[in-house]
Amino acid sequence: MGDEGAAVYNCLLCDSYALLILGILPDRKLARGTKGQSAYEDALEEFQLARAAEKKLLLLACPTCNALAHKYETDQVAQGEFLRQGMAVLTPCVLVPFEDGQPPPVYRDENARGSREGKPRWRLCQGVGPAGLELDRTRTGRLHKPSLRPFGIDVSPMELLEDVEMPEAVHRACAYAEAVIATAEDDSEALEEMMRWRATASEHHEHAGKQGGVRPVLECWPAAMAAIELGTTGERMRRYDEAIRSRAFQEMADFGI
Ligand SMILES: [Zn+2]
Repeated sequence: MGDEGAAVYNCLLCDSYALLILGILPDRKLARGTKGQSAYEDALEEFQLARAAEKKLLLLACPTCNALAHKYETDQVAQGEFLRQGMAVLTPCVLVPFEDGQPPPVYRDENARGSREGKPRWRLCQGVGPAGLELDRTRTGRLHKPSLRPFGIDVSPMELLEDVEMPEAVHRACAYAEAVIATAEDDSEALEEMMRWRATASEHHEHAGKQGGVRPVLECWPAAMAAIELGTTGERMRRYDEAIRSRAFQEMADFGI
């Protein structure tokens, strides 16, 4: 059987990077002989094009946002606990292409069959991107962000405002992101809208006298949300609020409240 294949995703709320397992890669044993090698390479490319979709908005349990939402430390046990309890927040994320015009690259854990104590060793197996990925110490699949600096990614850490109630902000931001997806005509409209959020948050940050570049929406919440609201029609904001309300009612019904 083949090993797991993964791609890198970027959370649009907190701007952290983590691994998303995409599925089981074609078996390397296929790559025997010249014919086998080219069939194996075709199968890898097929896997990448089918699973590592670019420009698609995904809702994922980002480790950083979940730590902020639950006031837990980001470690494996704490994350497992709230995932099992169904308390995880899902944040809008996109898979990362490291070069324009190329689909997101696929990685393989070269130590998947290694010793139990051995660290995962994610190496590029298909596409264009960093040759290897460095995970941080949390064991949540999150990447060590400074290791992405050579690839043109702004790695300055998120500066949280002290007076912002973080769990509340994360839950609000996630509720709005879900509402954007629920009310969008299609995937690309939802993605465009979330990218506008991020651009608005980054601009807001520049006005606040900080250096430019992409800044996390959560960093300057709720000022970022106010700026986003200003650029959204009243009609659309009403649709978002309606989607959030009906979802809350649905949740209460599900919990029998
Ligand atoms: Zn996040």
